[in-house]
Amino acid sequence: MLIFKTLEHLQKHLSALRKKGLSIGFVPTMGALHNGHMSLAAQAKKGTDQVIISIFVNPTQFDDDEDLKKYPRTLEQDALLCAKNEIDIIFAPSVEVIYPKGEKWVNPFDFGNITKVMEGSYREGHFDGVAQVVSRLLDIILPNQLFMGQKDYQQTSVIYSMLQQSNYPTKLVICPTLREKNGLAMSSRNIRLSEEERKNAGIINKTLAKAKALLGKKPLTEIKSESKAILGDEGYKLDYFEISDGYSLVALKDDDPLPDKVVICVALYCGEVRLIDNIVWEQV
Ligand code: AMP
Repeated sequence: MLIFKTLEHLQKHLSALRKKGLSIGFVPTMGALHNGHMSLAAQAKKGTDQVIISIFVNPTQFDDDEDLKKYPRTLEQDALLCAKNEIDIIFAPSVEVIYPKGEKWVNPFDFGNITKVMEGSYREGHFDGVAQVVSRLLDIILPNQLFMGQKDYQQTSVIYSMLQQSNYPTKLVICPTLREKNGLAMSSRNIRLSEEERKNAGIINKTLAKAKALLGKKPLTEIKSESKAILGDEGYKLDYFEISDGYSLVALKDDDPLPDKVVICVALYCGEVRLIDNIVWEQV
């Protein structure tokens, strides 16, 4: 496994791989790697010849300095996990390597509604930061395929839209969410939960599954308020619990017929730790 921190050697290596006709699968991450990240890498290994994982805590997607400061940074452990999972390349750049001319960026893309709702309305500028870093990383790496998790459903919609509006020759592959035994979505933030909080957090996924099972059987406002009540009673502070069109992310209203694809998304605080999760329903 090779670890690169700067551009020169990385790009030389990647272009040699390309000359050999090898395809490149790319998994962007912010580190504190867990098996959820490794499941993306496993899918990348199946679909491409060489897998590169980036580890970069991107400052421009944080709207809260405290959150950025507290974000776990565990490069040594991450490298061990990557080696164990036979990842070919780690790219772990500094902020200066990613943003040599500074962090300011004018977003050339139009994401419409997708970045205005849910995470977009609670985390100002978050998706601009995500688009900025992913487009920079795609410029550097030029992968054949980009692997991202359904765990961050709205993020995959943003990047899908970005790819449609640009000329990257990269295919986006969306991978399923890996969960703990109790249903809690794996997340780098879970290490900040107490054992008790982690154990109880299975209720988040169970509540999403319950809401999904009620689609078409009860008005959406009732499903939402019951779900919010369950999670509120567990002591969580909710940012949102939303039932939306799976493509446009427009929130559905009671009288709307169910579209082909529905996504139910939740964001909540477990103590000081903000968690997100979602579940998808598709017309059969
Ligand atoms: P992050 O390091 O949290 O920015 O995540 C990097 C990538 O891993 C994103 O595409 C996430 O959606 C994905 N990811 C995070 N957690 C999981 C999980 N539990 N299962 C599958 N993919 C995940």
